[in-house]
Amino acid sequence: MNPISHGSPGNRETILDPDTYFLCQRCTACCKWPGDVRLETEEVPRIAAFLDLTEEEFLARFTRLRTNRQGLSLLEKENHECIMLDGNSCVIHPVKPSQCAGFPNKWNFPGWRQVCEAKAIPFAEARERGLTK
Ligand code: SF4
Ligand code: SF4
Repeated sequence: MNPISHGSPGNRETILDPDTYFLCQRCTACCKWPGDVRLETEEVPRIAAFLDLTEEEFLARFTRLRTNRQGLSLLEKENHECIMLDGNSCVIHPVKPSQCAGFPNKWNFPGWRQVCEAKAIPFAEARERGLTK
């Protein structure tokens, strides 16, 4: 598997570094990496509703099986970008999958700092600014 794949997020509910918060700069690099964008079952209704689609329509138009066939992934474009990336914006940003929302603070991979432009700020500052939910 590509070392900068979307895959293998592990436990995505735990903040990895209690002192530092990495603030996304919307560089979109993580939306362009080849690999699965994992979609959890409970995320389907809210994303479908956000797109004003039925769950069946959303699943048929925008999802596929994960590479390991154990769960769903968002589709990718021919250039490997996520299907939900429109220019530099995520079409479903307010309801994006937890895999997307959790990177890089709740999961990452060796070498992630070389490809992610997130800005490191003190965790206390992030908490004060309401960024840590
Ligand atoms: S690679 Fe890092 S800075 Fe760029 S969009 Fe993803 S999380 Fe944000
Ligand atoms: S759902 Fe949005 S944030 Fe997640 S990979 Fe796709 S474009 Fe990026």
